[in-house]
Amino acid sequence: MSDDLTALFDFDREGLRAWFAGQGERPFRADQVFQWVHQHGAADFASMTNVSKALREQLAHRASLALPEIVSDQLSADGTRKWALRVAGGNCIETVFIPEDDRGTLCVSSQVGCVLDCAFCATAQQGFNRNLTAGEIVAQLWIARRALVASGLDAHAITNVVLMGMGEPLANFPNVVTAMRVMLDDLGYGLSKRRVTLSTSGLVPEIDRLAAACDVSLAVSLHATRDELRDQLVPINRRFPLVDLLAACRRYVEDSPRRRITFEYVMLDGVNDSERDARDLVRLLADIPSKVNLIPFNPFPGAPFRCSTPEAIGRFRQILLGSNLVTITRKTRGADISAACGQLAGEVVDRTRRAARMAQRVLPLRVA
Ligand code: SAH
Repeated sequence: MSDDLTALFDFDREGLRAWFAGQGERPFRADQVFQWVHQHGAADFASMTNVSKALREQLAHRASLALPEIVSDQLSADGTRKWALRVAGGNCIETVFIPEDDRGTLCVSSQVGCVLDCAFCATAQQGFNRNLTAGEIVAQLWIARRALVASGLDAHAITNVVLMGMGEPLANFPNVVTAMRVMLDDLGYGLSKRRVTLSTSGLVPEIDRLAAACDVSLAVSLHATRDELRDQLVPINRRFPLVDLLAACRRYVEDSPRRRITFEYVMLDGVNDSERDARDLVRLLADIPSKVNLIPFNPFPGAPFRCSTPEAIGRFRQILLGSNLVTITRKTRGADISAACGQLAGEVVDRTRRAARMAQRVLPLRVA
């Protein structure tokens, strides 16, 4: 595939219309192609039967619908399915489909690796290589839908998308926003804002920018109620401490009265799971429309934590419920194929200085 070709997966509809205009084509032509690719899952221009032959040929010369390559496709005993996708440059990212009774959630990655270095996350250990392009983010949805349909599921099996895979989505702001616009577009994947959730470790300025650009559902990885502890668990807290993060959360829901922020809280034995932590959490969230997701810690090789006991999680949850905080304990899914929260690692060639620190460890690196 020539590098001169324009990657059409990188465009939201507005972007595609602008590119078409540059080719001397009318906006509705862009809409037709957009619909073919995202709504109907067309893999090539030849199949776009309501587009003139001349335009199809012109597109084939100038544009590309290239996709990441599927390098593995694993099915968990509980129905969770995980794909490893090779993206340009040779690294691999992971995408996970989680079927439930009333929905099907696709968990997509936003970066190759992550720079944030959260103490309890496997992705952090791999270091960081680069941001995903908008096309590589959208392609995860395109590829997963096609694979699910091929195994007999409905084309609408993916009802929800969560940006909770590898990476910090708000650190890749423009590409993530473009990708989410494609997900929300009626001629794209037609998902409602309620059903697209972006999870962040707490990049405060970008939370504000997100509200203006694309106000999808927001999940915040909180994990601690005191700065001293959160500084250790989620180091970005040193830049954006709790008071600033929670103020940004309040602003995010200010203008949408029915909206709530989801606070994620990973349950770490003896670290953040005491009854006092639970009461502090209730106090912190008292004036924010919230729901809480307790996430049992998922271990990975070399992890310095244990999961809280079921009793500790139960007690913690009861304290939140007792204060009328909607609280669910997230079911661990796909752990047998390392597809659970915090277990996604892919194959990342680290380009940060973490590589030096981690030099003693044996990592499954593949050189691009
Ligand atoms: N960087 C974003 C997106 C990742 S979302 C964020 O931090 O929100 C992944 C979710 O899984 C986050 O809430 C993260 O804190 C949580 N997580 C990470 N490692 C985990 C682990 N080992 N066990 C359980 N949850 C984990």
